[in-house]
Amino acid sequence: MSSEANALELKDVEIVYQRRHRTPVRAVAGASIAVKPGQIVGLVGESGCGKSTLARAAVGLVAPSAGSVLFHGEPVKPLGLRSRPASLTGLQMVFQDPQSSLNPRRTVGSQLADALEIVRRTPRSGHPARVSELLEQVGLPASASSRYPHQFSGGQRQRIAIARALAADPTVMVLDEPLSALDASAQAQVANLLVRLCRDLDIGMLLISHDLAIVNQVADEVAVMYLGLIVEQGPTGELWRTPRHPYTEALIGAIPQADGEHSQPTVLPGEVPNPAAPPAGCRFHPRCPLAFDRCRTDAPPLLTVEPGRTQACWLQRADVPA
Ligand code: ADP
Ligand code: MG
Repeated sequence: MSSEANALELKDVEIVYQRRHRTPVRAVAGASIAVKPGQIVGLVGESGCGKSTLARAAVGLVAPSAGSVLFHGEPVKPLGLRSRPASLTGLQMVFQDPQSSLNPRRTVGSQLADALEIVRRTPRSGHPARVSELLEQVGLPASASSRYPHQFSGGQRQRIAIARALAADPTVMVLDEPLSALDASAQAQVANLLVRLCRDLDIGMLLISHDLAIVNQVADEVAVMYLGLIVEQGPTGELWRTPRHPYTEALIGAIPQADGEHSQPTVLPGEVPNPAAPPAGCRFHPRCPLAFDRCRTDAPPLLTVEPGRTQACWLQRADVPA
């Protein structure tokens, strides 16, 4: 896999939050993820495992304490959104809550025009036409331009936030729980929209979600994160059919089934440990039903277990007796 082919590449990224009079939190403890043009990579894991922190590092909103973040081979420097170099405008982020990322007092059209103004690719005279085009791309009528964010549903507001990101002609979008605040039908529609945009515009997407079912529907690749580390990664279908890490298996098992008969608990047993004081050995071992001695003392490295698939677990799942 040549790194040139990656639109976004995070290599061995570590992120430490310093806290006054308290132990620092190593929220990301060495994670690598690559996103190719036109590819959706899902990043899943329970709340608190470091997904948002990694997302913020991917777009330069927090500085990694180690490792590197590359956008088309160029280092992403944490400078803040306003003072970003022009070469990074193609790297866009969409947040969970469009309500808080849109300005309630300005029309949708003027907010999209502002986004066009920052990128300066479209002359001002072309803004109205481009605004209509952006709205159409996200499935909204051109008339949405003269209305205000509160006049839309949650799903429509998320479409507006996506349109605003598209105004920058992004090649990579990092989406942090973009569907979590939406009802089920809006979730499905916006998920379809993301897949379409990814394919039509050749955008690479890092889609963060605690909801493995959604990621299973839309992502080409999945990375599973546990307490600051990627524990398994691979093509979505394969990972879904044959999860190699007990944590991945547990996450998949925790998805509520549509038919009530096979419904499973939605929360994994055991507590998520505090990332400021992670367990020794494999970080998952206190919650792992298959843990044995080595898991309590040695941290398993992330190894390629078959082409395109990595796993960090002392158990080679194929060796586990049935
Ligand atoms: P996720 O998005 O997977 O829920 P986060 O990246 O938000 O996880 O958080 C990872 C860990 O880092 C959590 O333990 C969280 O409490 C901690 N954390 C997040 N932001 C900060 C911060 N600004 N200062 C200190 N700790 C933080
Ligand atoms: Mg988060």
